[in-house]
Amino acid sequence: NLSDRIAASLKGLRGHGRLTEADVDKTIREIRRALLDADVAVPVVRDFTGRVRERALGEEVSKALNPAQQVVKIVNDELVEILGGATGELTWAKNPPTVIMLAGLQGAGKTTLAGKLAKWMKDQGHTPMLVAADLQRPNAVNQLQIVGERAGVPVFAPEPGNGVGNPVLVAMNGVSTAQFQQRDVVIVDTAGRLGIDEEMMQQARDIRDAVNPHETLFVVDAMIGQDAARVAEAFRDGVGFTGVVLSKLDGDARGGAALSITGVTQRPILFASTGEQLGDFERFHPDRMASRILDMGDVMSLIEQAERTFDAAEAEKAAQKLASGEDFTLDDFLNQMQQLKKMGSMKKMLGMLPNMRQHREALEAFDEREIDRVEAIVRSMTPAERKDPKLLNGSRRARIAKGSGTSVQQVNQILENFKKAQQMMRSMGSAMGGGAMPGGPG
Ligand code: GDP
Ligand code: MG
Repeated sequence: NLSDRIAASLKGLRGHGRLTEADVDKTIREIRRALLDADVAVPVVRDFTGRVRERALGEEVSKALNPAQQVVKIVNDELVEILGGATGELTWAKNPPTVIMLAGLQGAGKTTLAGKLAKWMKDQGHTPMLVAADLQRPNAVNQLQIVGERAGVPVFAPEPGNGVGNPVLVAMNGVSTAQFQQRDVVIVDTAGRLGIDEEMMQQARDIRDAVNPHETLFVVDAMIGQDAARVAEAFRDGVGFTGVVLSKLDGDARGGAALSITGVTQRPILFASTGEQLGDFERFHPDRMASRILDMGDVMSLIEQAERTFDAAEAEKAAQKLASGEDFTLDDFLNQMQQLKKMGSMKKMLGMLPNMRQHREALEAFDEREIDRVEAIVRSMTPAERKDPKLLNGSRRARIAKGSGTSVQQVNQILENFKKAQQMMRSMGSAMGGGAMPGGPG
């Protein structure tokens, strides 16, 4: 299991002060082995580990994370990157109908997907039509008709005059019928073979050239393992595709196929099929897949640890200051804001994980621009003013507002917030004992 192996290899790093080349290489070896075991294609593994290694060595050791957590974060970032970064979007035609062609091996899940995709689109107010251009298997047309009925979507099937026996003709007639009936999407189901063969590729190319699809989706079984890269390459070269659908992700599929396919073809995975029912379908989120590949528990603990460290470091510094009799200054206030900001961007980076609801709520209440404003305002003050805000009369406030590109009201507001934070800090005195400090914006 890929996740466990990465986690295990990183456990060895725990407790070390910094990332040495030997540490990194040991971990890289483990990651490489784990990826190869998960059937990720060799060139993809090479590329991936190369990038992780470079970043792990090049990056400064963060004070918030221990070395193992830092590598987890890098691996996570790179996984998301290789899986396409952001969640992919379908391309819609400027002049409907949008033509979507499905391609893939027999049994990959194309026909099932056609129904799921149609229902998903219909639920969003689109008016899809399915086209049965798989005339290879005796039952294929009937299968699509059943699927279409379940989804409540019309199916264009071969009949005398519709191109019986000729999938290219069926596809063409299907698209023009959809156009005539003012359907805004046409999904063309095509035939596959158990193995890659030239005749099938030629037929798919002919259909492609006849209907000129806006999207060609390569449907691939996530359980395919070692073959994923080879099959993806064959379809890329033979037909070409704009996006990928991973099917059978409900099985015990590791991330191997996903990584191989996106790594080799650079095409985004747009959807995931997760069962035999129409509703077992979702958009594909690279960050969630990365978490699935990686050990979830480790990622969560990474975030928790980071939060604890930020709080603890701040609390400690503030406590020391208070203990030494020094007052809480605007510089300290700014420092707090900056810590908060770091935490904010960190959470965003690692966000969108399950169980992150509280974090997300905290984030939403948290306006980074406000912190930038605090920063601009405090930076526009002289050192003397920062030490002693009582100096800040009207003309100084006007100067600071101008210098920071804010208004006098905003300067006043920040000074108010600071005063509250300062009072709080004073009253807390040596009782300072962790917990987030108040005084944030808003
Ligand atoms: P096609 O030959 O590419 O059209 O593949 P089909 O759509 O006919 O699917 C082949 C088999 O896989 C059928 O028995 C489907 O019910 C099943 N199947 C398709 N997608 C999924 C999926 O996401 N999960 C599971 N468990 N089974 C699936
Ligand atoms: Mg089929």
